[in-house]
Amino acid sequence: MSNLAAYAVDDANSRGRAVVEPRPKARSEFQRDRDRIVHSTAFRRLEYKTQVFVNHEGDLFRTRLTHSIEVAQIARTVARALELNDDLAEAIALAHDLGHTCFGHAGQDALNECMQAHGGFEHNLQSLRIVDRLEERYGAFDGLNLMFETREGILKHCSPARARELGDLGQRFLDNRQPSLEAQICNLADEIAYNNHDVDDGLRSGLLTLEQLQQLSIFARHAAVADAEFPHISGRRRVHEIIRRMIDAQVTDLLAESARRIAVTAPRTLEDVRTAPSLIAFTDTMQAEHRALKSFLSEHLYHHYQVLRMTTKARRIIHDLFATFVAEPRLLPPQYQLMATTESVTRATADYIAGMTDRYSMKEHRRLFSVGNP
Ligand code: MG
Repeated sequence: MSNLAAYAVDDANSRGRAVVEPRPKARSEFQRDRDRIVHSTAFRRLEYKTQVFVNHEGDLFRTRLTHSIEVAQIARTVARALELNDDLAEAIALAHDLGHTCFGHAGQDALNECMQAHGGFEHNLQSLRIVDRLEERYGAFDGLNLMFETREGILKHCSPARARELGDLGQRFLDNRQPSLEAQICNLADEIAYNNHDVDDGLRSGLLTLEQLQQLSIFARHAAVADAEFPHISGRRRVHEIIRRMIDAQVTDLLAESARRIAVTAPRTLEDVRTAPSLIAFTDTMQAEHRALKSFLSEHLYHHYQVLRMTTKARRIIHDLFATFVAEPRLLPPQYQLMATTESVTRATADYIAGMTDRYSMKEHRRLFSVGNP
């Protein structure tokens, strides 16, 4: 912690926890946050939640858990190289997807459709709701009572209406201010991680081909470098040599451009960071390649007909579950029935469904809908 830049977040300049607690003995406050996240129930469930592929489709694809670990690895590297608080970056990265539903983006969209007339559903707000309220682990408070800056990093985006309800934490969206540099790093580490691992998983699944990927300048360039260095390799080993170069190029570019922006803006305090424009960024050239990669994946992978078949089924499962529980709340497990009395049946149902893993939601659907099935 001694090598931190003056504008990094640390225990001393943090806005602390909502409920005051004794200082940890052998850890920093942000290490304690990371540890609380790792021990949470929502974190363990990430193992059985997916982004693109359904959990049971194959053992080799990324899950939300391995994705979060990849994000944490990239975020820590970047934070440490820029003399920022890598414990905070790690905590945010490990928590950033806690609020995701089963079945990835399709699940979130379906639950949001169900909740349209009841305040909506947004995974990023759900991550915050989990760490602030839903985890039941401590005698003195609901949730994990995380540090302000960890919670701020989890809340990546937010509508003005919702920001007003969130008080202190939402204020920056109303004032148009930035979060910490550690939070900014996590946003881009997330994108670097999923763009590259989706290329890998897309190839592994056979939904993407090497010929298609050659259209992308970033892929073609690094394929040429890998082929020149290792002309004899092929298959998975070649794919890995290409993808690791793509990740390295993006991280290196991010580090250089961010260091340049920090040098130009010369923030002296955390407050300077908050009022400056975003300082963690790619160069324009890399930003363009990054965008091309994203739209390529959207077109060829996320909208591949085999993925769409899965997402259509996922949507149906979520709509069925939601309608059933809202019509008959006594079918909800007891803690959610209790939540329904303190909040609303729709919110309690959304919490229950959002917490489900892919396989649990399918099992629950079978239990409720198929006659003769246990
Ligand atoms: Mg993510």
